[in-house]
Amino acid sequence: MILLDPAVAVKWRDYGILIPFPPDRPRNIVGFLKKSADPCPMPIVSIKEALEFLGKKTEFEISEEALERVHKKEYIDIFFQESKEKRDLETTRAILDIYELVDEKGNYHRYNKELAKKTMRDLFETSIMGSLKGSYLAARLALENESGFCFYLSGGNHHARYDWGAGFCVLNDVIFTARAMQNEGRAKIIWIIDVDAHKGCGSAEIVDFIRRGINPHHFEEDCTIVTLSIHMARGWPLDRESMEKSKPDRAPNIKSDIEIPVEKGEESLYTKKLEAGLMQFAALSGGKNADLAIVVDGDDPYEYDEIESSSLLKLTLTQMLERDTLIYDFLVSRGIKSAWLLAGGYGERAWEPAANFLKSLTFRK
Ligand SMILES: [Zn+2]
Repeated sequence: MILLDPAVAVKWRDYGILIPFPPDRPRNIVGFLKKSADPCPMPIVSIKEALEFLGKKTEFEISEEALERVHKKEYIDIFFQESKEKRDLETTRAILDIYELVDEKGNYHRYNKELAKKTMRDLFETSIMGSLKGSYLAARLALENESGFCFYLSGGNHHARYDWGAGFCVLNDVIFTARAMQNEGRAKIIWIIDVDAHKGCGSAEIVDFIRRGINPHHFEEDCTIVTLSIHMARGWPLDRESMEKSKPDRAPNIKSDIEIPVEKGEESLYTKKLEAGLMQFAALSGGKNADLAIVVDGDDPYEYDEIESSSLLKLTLTQMLERDTLIYDFLVSRGIKSAWLLAGGYGERAWEPAANFLKSLTFRK
């Protein structure tokens, strides 16, 4: 099952954000799948259809309390405070910072307020909260639809830290979804498989903070989230050196449970390293399999990705398919249900790896 929500793929320019990446990756993936086989053998559902499938008649809301299981209360309060004026102002301030739209001297960078047709608050409500809801629904669909598989064509905001966003990620939908599934009694053991080019540092930090009791919403069973991140060994985050010195106990310095750095030029070893990593999961879960896996399926390790910060890892289309097939087969052979989130991927050809993987699945069934 594929979950598509065109509303979250916003046009950056409408918000005055001048990032040269087209928002049409989900649309390109769906277009490719529909062209490859008519009708597309894998069901593509909208948010409305997903809600109907799950027996919900109307749109649902995500509570502050649910977000506080993941993020610090003071951070969440910014977005939910009562005064509209303050809420709008502080949401704008947070997004400008997290999207790196203000330079060190305090000047706007890649941002022109004059061009904005919509507000940052609107961006928060449509794209940021929309993406969080989509990831939540993807997990529900994965657990409840017959195939045990759902690929959400958005989500994967894995850099968002405990008390602030980072690297274009405001709220961490990955760990939010995992904790929501646990809290609602839908899954106990959850494995996070993060294969984005950039390290899943926000997710690692949030899980670590839950375990160490820094997040006051701590439950014993929350220790059953296990994280894997395979990523570029160097080059990201851009402020890594200063972070290593000033904040050794914070992201990006906190490691995932299974941490697999890949050095430049090690592309041919990628699949083997990932396979060895996947084999460590069960031991970290007391010999048990997960009830659910969340795959942060970033496409930015792809050799044609256009963002500079992913340039130290360049997998071919074949290697990208090997990566995703390895994960899929690993999970299916163990009967583990999985929600896949599209995560990073930038430029004209960024849609190709996910489209290629999804097409390969439709011809298997
Ligand atoms: Zn990335």
